[in-house]
This record gives sequence, structure tokens and C-alpha cells, in this order.
Amino acid sequence: MNNIYNYSIEELNVYFESIGEKSFRSIQIYEWLYKHRINDFDEIQNMKKEVIEKLKQDFNLNKLSIIKKLEGQDVYKYLFKLNDGNTIEAVLMKHPYGNSLCISTQVGCNMGCHFCESGKLKKVRNLDAGEMVLQILQIEEDLKIRISHVVIMGIGEPFDNYDNVIKFINIINHPKGINIGARHITVSTSGLIPKIEKFIEDGKQVNLAISLHAPNDELRNKLMPINKVYNISKLMEIIKKYITVTNRRVTIEYIMLNGINDKTKHAQELAQLLKGVNCYVNLIPYNETSNSKFKKSDKQTIMKFYDILKKNKINVTIRKEFGTNVMAACGQLSANANYKEDQ
Ligand code: SAH
Ligand code: SF4
Repeated sequence: MNNIYNYSIEELNVYFESIGEKSFRSIQIYEWLYKHRINDFDEIQNMKKEVIEKLKQDFNLNKLSIIKKLEGQDVYKYLFKLNDGNTIEAVLMKHPYGNSLCISTQVGCNMGCHFCESGKLKKVRNLDAGEMVLQILQIEEDLKIRISHVVIMGIGEPFDNYDNVIKFINIINHPKGINIGARHITVSTSGLIPKIEKFIEDGKQVNLAISLHAPNDELRNKLMPINKVYNISKLMEIIKKYITVTNRRVTIEYIMLNGINDKTKHAQELAQLLKGVNCYVNLIPYNETSNSKFKKSDKQTIMKFYDILKKNKINVTIRKEFGTNVMAACGQLSANANYKEDQ
């Protein structure tokens, strides 16, 4: 039986037509799922009994199980168990402008970035779109809040699961679905160039963030194995194309790693690389993990780096640190480590 949260409205149109029903039923079902938030098909009030019975035969409304929840100042980390027993995490952050959820897209990640917990566990499988949608629905229900922003920056490389991620974006962006505005959705990639190319062609209005983390190939090769396949000059080329075609600004993510990529010369090199490019740099204080050899840069070093970029007219912000006390920040998520904690 198929989980109904994994269905786009177009797929439901096809389904309803296949059972001899009008396709507007798919809009009705979206309203029941995403506006009224039903837990049982019997709660549907505007469909004939036979249609409801048919829905019950063909679909389920199964949820993920929340197996752990950690709370910090304005931050909640959830550990979910999927129906096949794998675990993933999502992090809810309360900002003055709204509630933002960082969702996972895969169990593990194959990109193997050396500073990242998610990369330590090889990819086990892709999440389907429904499993991504449910992270939003269940956290909204648990905290009795509405999520206004979604960042696709949890466990996994979203562009290594491209089709499901795009389907997920379409479901949550749909006016009859959860209706999260495209400009409130950000997808982050380590730089899978063919998929960035596809993303440009698809013309999605969601924000794009690129995990750069180093201003030259020598250093980026050491931190991110993907750079050996798609190096910085190729990455910059596609970033510039994205900006030209979409007329949108790109976010460049740069984790500050003590003594590795945080020196004056790195800031200058980064400023040079990004000169004239319509982007803004997000400096990310590294979240140290117990089994990582990397350390976070101190505040002065981050400020100095920031100042150099500013002086060179690069737009730059420093990411607010969330949830170090609950090991919760986005990008420090590990299905592996946290599952062990629970056993
Ligand atoms: N795979 C995608 C999205 C998930 S990672 C990507 O790499 O972009 C989301 C962001 O968190 C990335 O920029 C990643 O480099 C960063 N990140 C990973 N581990 C981190 C850590 N321990 N502290 C801070 N940021 C981290
Ligand atoms: Fe994967 Fe992103 Fe972590 Fe790299 S930083 S291992 S791409 S989740």
C-alpha cells in the first residue's frame, strides 16, 4: 500500500481518473491532508463512501515515529524512525521571522566530507518525498506551530536524490498543500554540477545554497572529495550561469574550521573568487563533534574573516549558532551516532 503523503497532485489526478473519478478529487484530498490534517480517511466529508473505501484500499496515512526529541534555546531536534527501521533527524529553529525546519533527504550521505557527521555513514537509501513531507507535518503537530521556512540541509545530499527532492518541494509549495512559499525554501548542495544544471532548467524559484568551504582546489580537495570530480572553477562557472539565468542571488556556505580555512589569506582568496558574483557568504561556526578532528574557529578569527570580506565588498553574514547544547544544529546530524545513543 502506498503512503499518500508521497503523492504529488498530478499523480493523484492520474489516480482518480484511473478509478473513474474527476481529477478535482485530488485537490479535495490535498485539503484534507494538509489543511484539515486528517489521520483517518473516514474523516473526509465531501466524498462518497465508495471513494473513501477505495482510498483506504489503495493508500495509507502512516506516519514516521518520533523516537527522540531534544530541546534547547529556540531549537528542537527530532530523531525519527522510518518504517524500515532506519533513522533520520530534523531540526526546528525558532527565528524572529518564523519557524524554520531543517530536513533530511537521505539515510547517510555518500559525499564523505571529512568534517561532516552525516558523511561518516555511507548512504543507506534515499528518502521518498512523503518521508520529507512527514518531517514537517509531524513537527508542526508535535509543537503546535506552523513552519514558515524549510531548509534542505539535514542528513544527505539533496541533489543526489534530485527527483524526490523536487517532488517534495512541489508538494509543500502547492497552494492546496502546505503552501510554503518557494522563496522560503532553500536547498543546499555540495556541488553536483549536472544536477545544478538541471535545477537551472527546471526553473524552481527556491533558494540555492552551495557548500564551498574552501577558496582553492588544494584545500577543498582535502575537505570535500566531490571537489576532485567537480572543482571550484567548474562550480563557479555553473554558479554564474545560475545567477544569469534565474536572476537570483546564491548563498555560499563556508564553515569556519580552526587553522584550516580561516586565515587572512583564505579570506582574501575567497573575496577574489567571489568578486562581482551576485552572492552572499554565510560563515558557519563549526559544530564540533566528539569524534571529529576539526575544531571551530574562535570568535575573533571569524570576525576578522568577516571584515576582510566586507572590505572587499562581498555580502556576508555569520550564521547564528543554534543548539550546540543539544547537538542539534543543521549539518551536525548523524543518524548513526544518535541511533546508537538510543539503543
Ligand atoms: N549535503 C548538502 C546539505 C546538507 S549539509 C550540503 O553539503 O550542502 C548542510 C550544511 O551543513 C553544509 O554546508 C555542510 O557543509 C554543513 N555542515 C556539515 N557538518 C557541519 C558541522 N559539524 N558544523 C557546521 N556545519 C556543518
Ligand atoms: Fe553529505 Fe553535505 Fe555532509 Fe558533505 S556536508 S557529507 S554532502 S551531508
